[in-house]
Amino acid sequence: MSPLASGPQGPTTLRPLLTTVLDALTAGAATRDGPLPSGGPTEVAARLREALGAPFPDHGDEDALRTLVQAVAAGAADPADPLCTAHLHCPPLAVATAADLAASVLNPSLDSWDQAPAASELEALVTKALAAEVYPEVHAEADRTRTDSEALVTTGGTESNQLALLLAREHHGHTQLVRAENAHHSLRRATWLLGLPEPVTVPAPAGTMDPAALGEALTALPGPLLVAATAGTTDAGLIDPLPDIAALCETHGARLHIDAAYGGGLLFSDRHRPKLDGLARAHTVTLDLHKLGWQPVAAGLLAVRDRHDLAPLGHHADYLNADDDTEAGLPDLLGRSLRTTRRPDILKIAVTLKTLGRTGLGALVDRVCEQAAEFAELIHRHPRFELHDRPTISTVLFRPADTTDDTVAAVRRTLLTEGRAVLGRARLDDRLWLKATLLNPHTGADDLAALLKLVEGHTPR
Ligand SMILES: *Cc1c(COP(=O)(O)O)cnc(C)c1O
Repeated sequence: MSPLASGPQGPTTLRPLLTTVLDALTAGAATRDGPLPSGGPTEVAARLREALGAPFPDHGDEDALRTLVQAVAAGAADPADPLCTAHLHCPPLAVATAADLAASVLNPSLDSWDQAPAASELEALVTKALAAEVYPEVHAEADRTRTDSEALVTTGGTESNQLALLLAREHHGHTQLVRAENAHHSLRRATWLLGLPEPVTVPAPAGTMDPAALGEALTALPGPLLVAATAGTTDAGLIDPLPDIAALCETHGARLHIDAAYGGGLLFSDRHRPKLDGLARAHTVTLDLHKLGWQPVAAGLLAVRDRHDLAPLGHHADYLNADDDTEAGLPDLLGRSLRTTRRPDILKIAVTLKTLGRTGLGALVDRVCEQAAEFAELIHRHPRFELHDRPTISTVLFRPADTTDDTVAAVRRTLLTEGRAVLGRARLDDRLWLKATLLNPHTGADDLAALLKLVEGHTPR
């Protein structure tokens, strides 16, 4: 019989399996000499197919755990490698990953109290604390007024943005989304999913929303309107002028959502938090702790300024939240998500917040922002590179000087195919840039110099 992870024997059963996993991770990583496997998609797929064999054999294979963990580790893009800097793809903290193991073992499901008695209370407390990071003033007044902020746990920015649009629609009816051309693609998808009109696009000439153009749009458009601003664009890490946008929304009676999936992490840093001034004036805010929060996926949040806004998510299913159970004091959890069965992603988040504290987490944020500034300076001083701009958060866009877009694209793909470096790409000012999103606090100046040298070496003269 296959042993179980939980129950009194669970830990004893798991211990040797964990050793197997850790050994396989080490062995797999050792077969790579860079941040990702060499050979490109065809070779990587062939090696994986070879390791997997029959995906669902008639008779089990006891070695499958070792074989498959090793194969996936061998073929991984390792975000902890300093040269893996393409995306908002962070290296997870060890302590958060260990907590995530406990979540898998205990397997609480956050759709009813009787499946997650303590985890549901942990979620209530920690989401409240995170909401207070976004909405400090509102929180301070919580005892005196009925306004009270709250946050929901989501699978990431995409789900958070969807929920924000759904809440706007439920409050105002057929809402028109207004967003800048720099906004995340998930917002447009959410309008499609929710049957809302095609979004109106405001120009972002310097990479951030143009407030004058927003003002014109808000004057011209019939309501109800939802403005979506971005704090930390995916391509360049830029922050829209939040106070100006918030003021315009207030003047025109438009609802405001701020997508801070990336930039929200700046809240943890005393040095960088002022860049988010105006955030608390939004009705809803997207945060993503699997970006600037060093969590294993998934760790999204949607903060809402007034928890009463969440009322439309309330839902009844007699087996999960019968009225008499709720009246008898069993917490009703169904209104906290559109999902039913739901992992306790809050556990790893809670462990991280408490282990590192504000200063610890803030130091990580400061560190990656500092690295980005140093990297930009290195590029700026290098005669063979062009820097797009000084970073606002931890994204640096650059390209080899005097080359074509095709060369920029080819350099990136060659580095990927060789398994030497993972760089992203972004089109800004109608030109293609290489993108380094620095999210590894352990990356050093020498790593960044090596990355630049690698790109230089792969650029045809
Ligand atoms: C990453 C990102 C998203 C989407 O978040 P996921 O966690 O990938 O779903 C949304 N908005 C912005 C600005 C992002 O950077």
